[in-house]
Amino acid sequence: MPGHKDPHSYSNPHEVVIRDSTLEMEVNFFTRTIEGKVTHTIENLSGANRLVLDIRDLTIYRITLDDGEETAFAIGPHNKYLGNPLAIEITGQTRSVTIFFLSNPRSSAIQWLEPTQTAGKRHPFLFTQSQAILARTWIPCQDTPSVRFTFSAKVKVPPGLLALMSADNPTEKNKNGEYEFKMNQPIPSYLLALAVGDLEYQSLGEKTGVYAESPMLKKASSEFAEVQEMMRVAESIYGKYLWGRFDVLVLPPSFPFGGMENPRLTFATPTIIAGDQSLVHVVAHELAHSWSGNLVTNATWNDFWLNEGFTVYFERRIMEALNGKLYAEMLAELGYQDLKATLKEFGNTHEDTALKINLKGRNPDDGMTLIPYEKGYFFLLALEQAVGRKDWDQFLNDYFGEYAFRSLDTEEFLRYFESYFSEDLPLIKHRVPLNQWIYDPGLPKSAPPINSKRFRQVEKVIKQWKNGLDPQHLNISEWSTHEWLHFIRNLPSSLTPQEMTNLDEAFHFSKSKNSEILFAWLLHAANNQYQPAEPIMDKFLTSVGRRKYVLPIYKALSQTNEGFQKAKSIYRRARPNYHSITASSLDRLLGLNGG
Ligand SMILES: [Zn+2]
Repeated sequence: MPGHKDPHSYSNPHEVVIRDSTLEMEVNFFTRTIEGKVTHTIENLSGANRLVLDIRDLTIYRITLDDGEETAFAIGPHNKYLGNPLAIEITGQTRSVTIFFLSNPRSSAIQWLEPTQTAGKRHPFLFTQSQAILARTWIPCQDTPSVRFTFSAKVKVPPGLLALMSADNPTEKNKNGEYEFKMNQPIPSYLLALAVGDLEYQSLGEKTGVYAESPMLKKASSEFAEVQEMMRVAESIYGKYLWGRFDVLVLPPSFPFGGMENPRLTFATPTIIAGDQSLVHVVAHELAHSWSGNLVTNATWNDFWLNEGFTVYFERRIMEALNGKLYAEMLAELGYQDLKATLKEFGNTHEDTALKINLKGRNPDDGMTLIPYEKGYFFLLALEQAVGRKDWDQFLNDYFGEYAFRSLDTEEFLRYFESYFSEDLPLIKHRVPLNQWIYDPGLPKSAPPINSKRFRQVEKVIKQWKNGLDPQHLNISEWSTHEWLHFIRNLPSSLTPQEMTNLDEAFHFSKSKNSEILFAWLLHAANNQYQPAEPIMDKFLTSVGRRKYVLPIYKALSQTNEGFQKAKSIYRRARPNYHSITASSLDRLLGLNGG
């Protein structure tokens, strides 16, 4: 077992570890609860007399061992983020522990949606988001990414609805609403996922398909038509895909993230459906997690960059293989802009701008900034350039092979890297100071420069506009979404209402069906208190719950007193539509007490 102590789990896997879980659950939309039992098959490594699990907002009815005899348990003191330790009496001979539990309607992992919050408007919907430490709010478990287990489940839902998990999934509804699932590859708890709704399935190829509500299904399948090819490309770079199927579930717009890499069934926001496949790099990202994250996993949330930095790197390699170097350069430069903005916001000396961070005593969501993603990416790009792409790819293939279905921390990664490249290490370290990248805040000077040629063209156009050329006469033919994003992001931060109006009349940003473009535009609108955009901003914030979009807009609004009042008034109406992950970030920003 791993030696690392996870600061975000009460559990004792170094003594007793869960190897398999069998779940039986019934989903009740009226009471907004999941009632169930889970049988954990355990391995007692040290003859311990207690198994400690993580729970938060769960009612525990009773606990039995092996053949059904009840056992004593104690629930320890509550911590806001960690919940409670659940200590269960066992013996050295105990093989399995069965827990009868009920979730709370306020379970932070689960979002219950009214029919009006769905695309179809007729049936309720629920989805879970377990990362980082929310699995414990719907299943009692060893809620640490250092423990992996296989699972099977029986889930009962109201007839007419389809249930899906991060497992082998059904493709059709059945009359009685009873579904069975199996996941034979061991996964960490944060990849446990459930969605229930009026969902349909469309195959996209032999090993891949899409689930969505029926009004979204056609759009979603044409948007993701390339996924099969993405899988082929990914396998050609870093080896066999080991999870069987790769399906994508399109969720209602309140989903808090772009995507969540739940194994075999990526959860995705509908905001990546732009109509022109221009945002499918988000799906490439989730697919890349099938190697970095799901297969080779960060041991604690302090090592989150091991999941995300590698995944962003791999995502851009997939996009490069599919669309060419010029295209991937644009994605990388947008990432660099995001990184610079994040560093500016934190300040270059903030300890959370290191790759390895210390989240002890804090909500691990605090570490889910762009730093592990983008600084992680640039670190790995620097390593690629130092050792050469061929050797680097071989290294990654070996790394994914060596640590497949295991968890590791940053120090273990460093040891592996340093021994793998031991002969060239002094030279590599001279070019890429490993410890500085990992443990120091800010961006090292050795960061590789990014220069997107297509963006330099965009900048020429911005210059022409600044020199007074009418927007209607700018040469913007055949620009991709990314060029448009670069254009909007690099407009002067201060724009007059007249300038905003002229730009919008020429390019229709406020009517864009592309969520990235609309978001970039609304950010200018919020920063410049541009009133004509207010109805669109209001609609965007009250219908979309993706944290990456809504948080910066509320932040921009909050710069003035008047804007802050406006932000609070929109948020009061929007909050019921946000998942707890988005809502808790905004509660803090806007000083509202959730409730
Ligand atoms: Zn990711």
